[in-house]
Amino acid sequence: PTTLCWLRRDLRLHDHHALAHALKTNRPVVCVFLFDEAILHGLPETDRRVDFFYRALEEIQSALRACGSELVSVSGHAEEALPALARRLGAQEVVAARDYEPGARSRDALVGARLAEAGCTLTLVKDQVVFETDEILTRTGKPFTVFTPYKKAWLARLTAGDLSPHAVDLARARLQPLPPLPLPSLESLGFARVDWETLHVKTGAAGAEALVADFLLRMDRYKTQRDYPAIKGPSYLSPHLRFGTVSVRELARLAWENGSEGAATWLSELIWREFYQQLLWHFPQVAEESFRPEYRALSFENNPEWFAAWREGRTGYPLVDAAMRQLNQTGYMHNRLRMVAASFLVKDLLVDWRWGERYFAAHLLDYDLAANNGGWQWAASTGCDAQPYFRIFNPVTQSRTFDPTGRFIRRYVPELAGLDDQAIHAPWLARALPAGFRLGQHYPRPIVDHAEQRTRALALFGRPAP
Ligand code: FAD
Repeated sequence: PTTLCWLRRDLRLHDHHALAHALKTNRPVVCVFLFDEAILHGLPETDRRVDFFYRALEEIQSALRACGSELVSVSGHAEEALPALARRLGAQEVVAARDYEPGARSRDALVGARLAEAGCTLTLVKDQVVFETDEILTRTGKPFTVFTPYKKAWLARLTAGDLSPHAVDLARARLQPLPPLPLPSLESLGFARVDWETLHVKTGAAGAEALVADFLLRMDRYKTQRDYPAIKGPSYLSPHLRFGTVSVRELARLAWENGSEGAATWLSELIWREFYQQLLWHFPQVAEESFRPEYRALSFENNPEWFAAWREGRTGYPLVDAAMRQLNQTGYMHNRLRMVAASFLVKDLLVDWRWGERYFAAHLLDYDLAANNGGWQWAASTGCDAQPYFRIFNPVTQSRTFDPTGRFIRRYVPELAGLDDQAIHAPWLARALPAGFRLGQHYPRPIVDHAEQRTRALALFGRPAP
């Protein structure tokens, strides 16, 4: 008999709760990855996320091979493929890290039931967050719906033990010896390789480690630098947190032990991540509709031409366009710009936040249902602890404040590179434009007037459905 360690959002081999737990069962352990048809089927060939996690799998494969074992991969639907594999390998237990998304929860319930029919148990352990499900509740035992008290309770509960690693000593681990079982090629799975070098993205646990080392040198300055998209302020660890190529315990520990203001602010961001994950766990309906019932029936205008202009970065608002082009070109968007772009779509273009949410979901390398939904509902003022609806970002003021010299805009909207530091934020207001530059020809005029749209947004949100 064996124990299977089913890798999902924990694509590393160190500080790994599921693997550490599996190794304690005293049966030889087989590490398993499922190429899940239900997830991969609808993705385009160019979806970069598949290659991102594929690189992590290759890394895991070679580490296991060095220990005489293998990463066993299967394809299909989880509820069929895993029980079949469990039978084939004589597994008595499958261990995996708990997932808080509604779709993953129903999948795991089904897989658990099917495994049970095969005489095998599914054990879920906590790995992707420091605190989960009912660990942080209000005094009356309810889930928090406001961030600040949640964060306070989170920090009050935290002890060094919560952040200590689930150590795995791979060299001594009792892994099932297996002959080489190559992973199916990425091409055979229907996906293309990505040139990560050009995108400046580091993949796998080794890539995450390099990013952590680099960020540690800047962590003290995080609070003052994180809002400026032209500066290397944040950690860029989001895809690694998404796929578990880094351990959140390790990151939280580094921030906690550092103790600087920058580190405390960064730790807060990791707590936001958990806040949204637990919100999704307690209120799975947010995946489909507004957290606030009064905003569920807002009649957005949903102008398809405006939506297309937003997607393609040609709204005529330079910072918004730069943001969207960054997303389209690289699969990343700076946090400040996610807020600006989301607010612009909902409050300036009056498009349903779920349309924007879906677009981000398809294009972000770090796409995470909980964080993306939380971010969109925050910006749309429909979520818990969201931006009040009457506080509407002004895209030009945001641009002047957070990209003062237009450095970021120039990078992604090169047709504006010749404009001076004033004109670049709102070319239609400029007294003089460079010779040969024609607004409306070389770069669009604004597709909407912010002041006008603001009034319309206030009217829309000001009389929500009863
Ligand atoms: P850092 O500033 O270094 O932060 C460290 C980590 O903290 C991030 O990697 C992330 O895991 C977490 N984090 C930071 N800010 C938030 C936040 N506001 N909410 C939740 N977690 C946070 N983040 C995603 O990981 N996936 C998404 O799909 C996603 N969609 C978003 C959509 C909108 C509209 C908004 C406003 C925010 C969204 N975020 C999302 C949150 C945030 O923008 C990204 O996590 C961050 O920009 C990633 O860059 P980083 O790793 O350099 O962040």
